[in-house]
Amino acid sequence: MGPVYGAIEGGGTKFVVAVGNGPDNIIARARMDTRTPDLTIPDCISFIRKASEGHVLRAIGVACFGPIQLDTDASDYGSVTNTPKPGWAHTPIVGPLQAAFGVPVGFDTDVNGAALGEWRWGAAQQCDPCVYLTVGTGIGGGAIVNGFPLHGLLHPEMGHIPIPRLRWPNGDLDDYTGFCTYHGAGCFEGMAAGPAISGRLGQLGETIPDDHPIWELEAGYLAAGLASIVLALSPRRIVVGGGVMQRSDVLERTRRRLRETLAGYVASPLITGDQQAYLVAPKYGQDAGLVGAFALAEAAHEMATK
Ligand code: ZN
Repeated sequence: MGPVYGAIEGGGTKFVVAVGNGPDNIIARARMDTRTPDLTIPDCISFIRKASEGHVLRAIGVACFGPIQLDTDASDYGSVTNTPKPGWAHTPIVGPLQAAFGVPVGFDTDVNGAALGEWRWGAAQQCDPCVYLTVGTGIGGGAIVNGFPLHGLLHPEMGHIPIPRLRWPNGDLDDYTGFCTYHGAGCFEGMAAGPAISGRLGQLGETIPDDHPIWELEAGYLAAGLASIVLALSPRRIVVGGGVMQRSDVLERTRRRLRETLAGYVASPLITGDQQAYLVAPKYGQDAGLVGAFALAEAAHEMATK
């Protein structure tokens, strides 16, 4: 094999590291628990060093849990910033990798990375702008606009979009208090991520039957958050992943609720129709972050050679 890339998916509970020349041609990969930065970052470096032996390492990509500093003019560019995760606040990520390998390092949020991977090789090819949204223990979203992950003042925080309180299918107003420590019952993540489902019923999501009314309520909340994303960014396709989306018919219910929520105002047949080509499952599923890291590595290499 010729040139290779290093890919790091940095998560709050696990890091996944791989070396290969793309997501469909991986030489070696490893999963490690997220410990403290002084242990985990050297672990990543030694894994990439060993796995890339005998190959030309072109670049490294890191799709990282946030919040992170993406402003290349900032003195702490390439760092995790004010995370509550013990030991990780204000931790440089790009610096140590560049020092170890001397190659370009692409760095972005895990969800912007996943969006780039799905756009480059997966379920959102030829769809620009596109959005990747994950609904699991939290909600996060990334966007590709004009071929690049969307950055700005900071980076998108789609999980905290304000949403209205909705009604159960029987007409009762949902009285859940929400679990977001910043926004209570007022935001997308606090009302629609996995902990909100188990929090309402006092039981784990896996034990809730497919015909429980919670799934219709959940689809309504997902549609409320997605409607804001559709209206603000006008994406040509939205890829929705994460554990909650794999439940029963949540995806199909969400398509219907999104159509109802937008009420025909966004007059594209992709939205007013069955949405099979609009709101779609990811190609890479659990691997979306790692594939995103490969896409970030490749983009960093292209930028450096332009
Ligand atoms: Zn919130």
